[in-house]
Amino acid sequence: MIIISACLAGFNTRYDGKNSCHAVFEDMVRTKKAIPFCPEQAGGLPTPRTPAEIIGKDGFEVIKGKAVVLTRDGRDVTEYFIRGAKETLKLAELIDADTAILKSKSPSCGCRFIYDGKFNGTLKEGMGVTAAYLTAYGLKVIDSDEYLRGLY
Ligand code: SF4
Repeated sequence: MIIISACLAGFNTRYDGKNSCHAVFEDMVRTKKAIPFCPEQAGGLPTPRTPAEIIGKDGFEVIKGKAVVLTRDGRDVTEYFIRGAKETLKLAELIDADTAILKSKSPSCGCRFIYDGKFNGTLKEGMGVTAAYLTAYGLKVIDSDEYLRGLY
C-alpha cells in the first residue's frame, strides 16, 4: 500500500485551501492503490493556514531539534509538523505501507527540494519533516514531480 499526499489526490488541504490534484494520483486513490493523508492537518494545523518554511538545514534537523519550522509571520509551528510526521507514520504502520508519494517542495512532504527558509521562493536540496521522518523509519519516499516525470 502507498500513502499519498492528500493535496495530490484533490483534497483541499494546502495552506491556501486549494489542492495540487493530478489525475494520475487521483486514480491511485480511486483504484485503492493509495491512501491520501495530510500531515499538516493531522498535526493540528488549520486550513487555510499561514505558509511555513524550515529554518535550518532540512526535516532531519527538525526531528533532531536542531532546526525549526516558522510561519511567514514568525510563529513557531515545529511541534505541529513533528506531530503530523508521527501521525503519518502511524497510518503507514496501520495499513502496512512501505512507500509514500509526497508533494514536491512542501516543508512537510518535500522529498528532494524545500524552500530555503527566507520566504522568497528559493529552493534548496532537502526533505521536509514528514518525508525525513518516514525515511528514518525505513519507508521509501517519492517526490511527486519526479514520479510524474517517470523517474521512478
Ligand atoms: Fe499536501 Fe503535504 Fe502540504 Fe498536506 S502537508 S497540503 S499533503 S503537501
